[in-house]
Amino acid sequence: MKTIRAAWEDTMRGSLILVTPDCALLESGRPKELLSVCKSRTDIRMEKEAAGMLLRLLERIENNDRIVSVSGFRSHEEQVQIWEDTLLKEGEAFTRTYVAKPGHSEHESGLAIDLAENRTEIDFIRPDFPREGICMEFRRQAAGYGFVERYPADKTSVTGIGGEPWHFRYVGQPHGVAMEREGVVLEEYIAFLKEETSQRVPYLCFETDSNVCSEIFYVDMRGKEKICLSCSDKADMRISGTNEGGIVVCRRRAVYGEK
Ligand SMILES: [Zn+2]
Repeated sequence: MKTIRAAWEDTMRGSLILVTPDCALLESGRPKELLSVCKSRTDIRMEKEAAGMLLRLLERIENNDRIVSVSGFRSHEEQVQIWEDTLLKEGEAFTRTYVAKPGHSEHESGLAIDLAENRTEIDFIRPDFPREGICMEFRRQAAGYGFVERYPADKTSVTGIGGEPWHFRYVGQPHGVAMEREGVVLEEYIAFLKEETSQRVPYLCFETDSNVCSEIFYVDMRGKEKICLSCSDKADMRISGTNEGGIVVCRRRAVYGEK
């Protein structure tokens, strides 16, 4: 039996944190370590684990620079600069629709990446990432690597953000697969886990490619200083904060050959 401890601090960090117009990124949610995701522009970086998975995904689809990263991690100061520049150039309505308020941008967490199809002219704020060709291939494989399209046009009423087909968010495995399977965005996924799951009644997610089965459940951390979670030695247990008072626990275990 293995055990891990979770404390209140853990609610504010991890791949599932909500960073939205209503939910600000907290200091603990800022990335500890960044890695470059682009050979020609080493200043485009993501949080270490997210960067590694993005590079593996691009390799899997034999990208060869047909997709380029346009914007990854931004410091708080950079987000302030983009907000002010866009406000000056494009006006308030455009800025409020397409640029997140400083402190409320997923880019400040290092878990978001804006991608573009590689062309001579690339729009920095609204890059083109069509639903065909190599970009479609990326979309098909993304969930398996823990990436989701964060702001689909038909979920604007849930996210509060206009459709952004170029903005991908790293939520980690197996959450990408679970969210795709259920057709939900992060807000809905967390609300679902919060309402429907517990340690005794987890959500089960089976990944057919790898024969890995995951038990996923939500733990409300409000009013708790620390909790202890345990799992069998054969399983891998990870937790992520939700940035709204809870954590999501995921126990993953290979089931191959156990029938
Ligand atoms: Zn973005």
